[in-house]
Amino acid sequence: MNPVTPTRDLLGRPLRDLRVSVTDRCNFRCRYCMPKETFGPGFRFLPRAEILAFEEITRVVEAASSLGVTKVRLTGGEPLLRRDLPALVGMLAALPGVSDLAMTTNGALLARWAEELAQAGLQRVTVSLDSVDPEVFRLMNGVGLPIEPVLEGIEAAVQAGLGPIKLNAVIRRGLNEGGILELANYARDHGHVLRLIEYMDVGESHGWKMEEVVPSAEVLALIGTSWPLERAEPHHSADVAQRYRYRDGAGEVGVISSVTAPFCGDCSRLRLTADGRLHTCLFARQGHDLRPRLRAGVDRQELIEELRGLWAARADRYSELRASQTQRPAALGKPEMSYLGG
Ligand code: SAM
Ligand code: SF4
Ligand code: SF4
Repeated sequence: MNPVTPTRDLLGRPLRDLRVSVTDRCNFRCRYCMPKETFGPGFRFLPRAEILAFEEITRVVEAASSLGVTKVRLTGGEPLLRRDLPALVGMLAALPGVSDLAMTTNGALLARWAEELAQAGLQRVTVSLDSVDPEVFRLMNGVGLPIEPVLEGIEAAVQAGLGPIKLNAVIRRGLNEGGILELANYARDHGHVLRLIEYMDVGESHGWKMEEVVPSAEVLALIGTSWPLERAEPHHSADVAQRYRYRDGAGEVGVISSVTAPFCGDCSRLRLTADGRLHTCLFARQGHDLRPRLRAGVDRQELIEELRGLWAARADRYSELRASQTQRPAALGKPEMSYLGG
């Protein structure tokens, strides 16, 4: 195994975590992410030739692992739309530096793939589930998909050993806030870890408004009235979720307060888009385009130095700046969540 030479950015933050988007396409049209009005039939998704091959992704992950990345998460768009995904999982699982290999999915195709992905070396799955109310679920996914395939996918993931499953729910005022207790109840009953996420202003297409954000404090107060909670320690400093234990012993719940309590100070996350751009922040307007260099045959050491230089120059802390101003920082042209991978 090659030695790891950890690297830090301008604010002293290490590089630990890499999110790899394998496609910008999705079979859902969640309103807070890919609203139909923008991502309709005429939308131009990335052409195939611009998407990184598995070998190219693996080279980038390997280089990042030699700079300290141990956690890798596959995402998208919907990662399960990428053909032959288990082959990529196998290639990444074989990298000695990658000790935590996970995927975030909407779960609709998970029942078909869970076992093969686990066999290939995937360790954990997070399923995005905004509501367990069938009608609200249909409405929120934007394509009228019923909830059953997703619940079956979650069950298949448990059977395949990909648990404990994390469930991500983005809470939007007036849309699914009324279903928070029902979601928490479902997660408690099935031994899943629910994480409630504040609706974020990533991208440009959804017309984000602060009034639609349901603050985590409100969510926790609501859950606490039914099932008292106590604070649990973070698993590690870069854990974006604040963890709480149910006092009755029925597991835990987390909140991700990107808007009301930003965590830029601990952000150790780099993102690789499906077309090979590295983004050092969800809100960074431009990514660093690696693809030309990858396709021109850059060698391993050069690749490592390119990543090191990029991370060393990083000073992003958009959410903290947003929180300290009364208005959003200037934001025209921000890339979309479905492109960045969340
Ligand atoms: N399609 C997969 C899924 O939904 O799990 C993976 C990609 S999706 C972009 C990753 C995560 O980003 C999901 O958990 C989703 O809920 C979250 N997300 C998308 N748009 C968001 C927004 N505006 N605010 C907060 N989270 C968002
Ligand atoms: Fe698709 Fe995930 Fe975005 Fe929903 S959140 S539109 S499932 S990429
Ligand atoms: Fe990290 Fe950027 Fe989000 Fe701050 S705003 S936590 S730097 S991705």
